[in-house]
Amino acid sequence: MATPRPILIAGGGPVGCITALALARQGLPVHLFEAEARVNDAPRAATTHAATLEMLAELGLVDEVTRRGLVEPKFRIWDRAKRELIVEFDFGLLANDTRFPYVVQCEQHKLANMTLERLSALPHVSVDFSARVTGLEQFDDRVEATVETPAGTRKVSGSYLIGADGGRSTVRKALGIEFEGYTHPERFLVLTTPFAFDAEFAQCSRNYFSDPDEWCALFKVTGDDGKGLWRVLFPTRLTESDDQAKDEAAVQGRLQQSFPKRGPYPVVHRNLYNVHQRVAASFRQGRVFLAGDSAHVNNPLGGLGLNFGIHDAVELAMLLGRVLRDEAPAAILDQYDRFRRPLNIEYVQQQTIANKKRLEEKDPAQRAKSNAALRQTAADPIAHRAYLLRASLIDSVRKRAAAA
Ligand SMILES: Cc1cc2nc3c(=O)[nH]c(=O)nc-3n(C[C@H](O)[C@H](O)[C@H](O)COP(=O)(O)OP(=O)(O)OC[C@H]3O[C@@H](n4cnc5c(N)ncnc54)[C@H](O)[C@@H]3O)c2cc1C
Repeated sequence: MATPRPILIAGGGPVGCITALALARQGLPVHLFEAEARVNDAPRAATTHAATLEMLAELGLVDEVTRRGLVEPKFRIWDRAKRELIVEFDFGLLANDTRFPYVVQCEQHKLANMTLERLSALPHVSVDFSARVTGLEQFDDRVEATVETPAGTRKVSGSYLIGADGGRSTVRKALGIEFEGYTHPERFLVLTTPFAFDAEFAQCSRNYFSDPDEWCALFKVTGDDGKGLWRVLFPTRLTESDDQAKDEAAVQGRLQQSFPKRGPYPVVHRNLYNVHQRVAASFRQGRVFLAGDSAHVNNPLGGLGLNFGIHDAVELAMLLGRVLRDEAPAAILDQYDRFRRPLNIEYVQQQTIANKKRLEEKDPAQRAKSNAALRQTAADPIAHRAYLLRASLIDSVRKRAAAA
């Protein structure tokens, strides 16, 4: 081992955990700090794309992700008011491009927890919960993190530090790195219901409903008991307070307006999220790196944020491994920022912004044009495949590989 010092990771979300596993599988010592007492199980990412499934296969995780998730080759875009299907895309067309021509809907807390389980079996990995990284100092040969725990504050030395501490990243702020971009004025409301939308949407667990007044999205996940839950995502109105958005009558009104049925919907969770399109001005400063949401955040339409964060984790672990094994000079670490940052803008920011614009478009002529373009894309096998290569992030992985 080139260095006895561990690589420090701030944040035990899915990106921090996957980074730890990708490093630890190379025999590198890792010390991960998670501020909370347990993995956050709020309903966030579930959609795991082909390019990411390939990486999870390398890490020995894909079988469990698939078993605990739900395999879905298709996604649909509907006109909500007309209840009319605009277009259906089928990842099955990527059968010659990937072993995984589908997405797997597997909730992100399951992924983090199954990764932590594997980490717990590795003697060169330490994971501390209720341990918040509050500051850092860099030296020529090491980085020192300040960690606050219920037992007190201590300093921990590492060879490198990875900030995988989410959108509000303390590490990014400590480095003084700008989080460039903007925040959408509305918030996203996610309602979780055991109501079986399957009767109407059984053929597809990923549905987007475009609407000039109130678009929405409908996804199925397996849930912790495997019985199935549906998540319905709406934008909030600008005049609405959090309490008003979560109010029972408002929640039922929203659901009934989009999916009318007799009787109220059972709603087991109601969560509100701020939505941003932001990219850190740099993903690296010296011995400190940003990965996942600490480096980039985006709206969830297209299911790309965590997927890209996992790609960060895998790339960063590969580069650090090569440097720490003396297979490559430390200068190769520059590649992380040089490639990941523009790739995020091109594949994640651009796609998610376009996806949102398409769903909420108010101009009837523009809506008709955009729907016609989608139909044309889906009807042409070459264009359909090209669209899916981009949507599944296979294109971004290929572009990165070509640059190497
Ligand atoms: C409604 C919704 C749906 C989404 N759906 C998808 C999807 O289908 N597909 C997709 O790819 N993406 C999706 N996303 C995005 C996805 O949830 C995020 O990209 C993902 O959570 C990023 O993981 P992360 O580990 O980088 O950050 P986080 O999940 O935010 O984890 C960061 C961790 O760091 C910890 N932490 C914070 N500060 C510190 C500190 N100072 N010290 C130590 N620990 C700290 C936190 O407690 C947390 O556990 C969705 C997001 C939302 C809101």
